[in-house]
Amino acid sequence: MNIDGPAPAQDTASALFGMPWLRVVEAEPEDDGTLTVWAVPDAPARCPGCGSPASGVHEHVAAAAKDVRCGGRPVRLRLHKRRLECREPSCPVNTFTEPAPPLPPRCKVTPRLKDQAACDVTDRGVTPAGAARYAGLAWHTAHDAFAGRADQILDAPLAPVAHLGIDEHRRGRPRWRVNPETGEYELLADRWHTCFTDLSGGQRMIGQVQGRTADDAAYWLALAPPAWRDRIQAVCIDMCSIYLSAVRRALPQAQVAVDLFHVVHLAVNTLGDVRRRAIRDKYGRRGRSGDPEYGIKNLLTRNLEHLSPEQFAKAAGILGQDAAGQQIAAAWIAKEKLRHALNLRARTTGSTPCERQVRDRLFAFYDWCAQNQDIPELVSLARTISRWQDHIVCAVLSGVTNAGSESLNRLAKLEARVAYGFRNPAHQQRRVQIACARTARRTEPRVRSVTRIRKQTVTKRQHEPG
Ligand SMILES: [Zn+2]
Repeated sequence: MNIDGPAPAQDTASALFGMPWLRVVEAEPEDDGTLTVWAVPDAPARCPGCGSPASGVHEHVAAAAKDVRCGGRPVRLRLHKRRLECREPSCPVNTFTEPAPPLPPRCKVTPRLKDQAACDVTDRGVTPAGAARYAGLAWHTAHDAFAGRADQILDAPLAPVAHLGIDEHRRGRPRWRVNPETGEYELLADRWHTCFTDLSGGQRMIGQVQGRTADDAAYWLALAPPAWRDRIQAVCIDMCSIYLSAVRRALPQAQVAVDLFHVVHLAVNTLGDVRRRAIRDKYGRRGRSGDPEYGIKNLLTRNLEHLSPEQFAKAAGILGQDAAGQQIAAAWIAKEKLRHALNLRARTTGSTPCERQVRDRLFAFYDWCAQNQDIPELVSLARTISRWQDHIVCAVLSGVTNAGSESLNRLAKLEARVAYGFRNPAHQQRRVQIACARTARRTEPRVRSVTRIRKQTVTKRQHEPG
């Protein structure tokens, strides 16, 4: 039953209790620490059939509901309602219960207690089990309240996205079992999610699908409205041909940039491979502490410009001693030549790079790898880089990185740990999405335009070239 007009003025106790249309008549602490609050409706009682005032009282009924804590104590609301009579001859209604808007009929939990549990999960990172325990509710009640609130946020239409990030995220641990016939381990389940992130705006994670195939990613993109897809200018991915084919299929107009962190990571891994092979060739065993090459392995992975002159002299001295060292040095130089090309991005230099310059430096990297074609790892690295060259150049020129997607992986993992793992993938998806949309979509979005990001990059501290 709807009641029009403003709620009546309340006495002090009712105002403190904070429910309009209810008047508190008594509060009584119980032995178990609960506070029982007795209240009566404070709304005009009119017949729902004819609208005339009630003619008399038929009977008294009591309703009880759990309410939000007061001063740390659980509260039980006891509502005394009257069943009233209508004696209008033409009215089909004989009796009706007087309305109490804050507590709908047959509710055992006040709506504001459910709201509190939903907010605890959505905004404070509490699990539904924790929120339910604090509110004194069943798990499913707290979870349903959270799901209702979260779905409302997640189902809202997306704001336009200029730069989209696509990344994979592992759901739980892979499961193995021993094959009784062969005695070998075989993979039972290895489940992944594909996450979509707004890299240029403030929406953070905007979508997630189960699986990490091209079809999975393309499926999510195909579900988005065509007008929203058309406004995507660039997509940032890891060096992953699966997502590249999905983007080519669903977003033919968008430029594709690869995340430069993964490019450098590949070069550092190649350097490690060369070092391990060269040490095995030289000593006939794996490296150990005491070997000169082993002692500088961490220096080689650092950026050249971050080495002190003494550290550089130490590494160069050790690598110059024999043929094994020369091979490691060649891989080290290749890594730095590749970084030299990537360092042209505006975030590092403070000025917009020129495409010719980037391609020239990449050519110098290929040239170096060709000069050292007796090192198979370098040939393989050069092949991979040349396959992704256009996307690397795009990333250097546009300054788009997938760091925004990678940073959310940690939040997603934290959600799974706080929950002690998930059995239900749909529940996990909802919890991860709402946690990763935390600061942006759930509250007022921080709108950052693409041009503003460029301005920020230009004013960054400049690194001294190595
Ligand atoms: Zn009536």
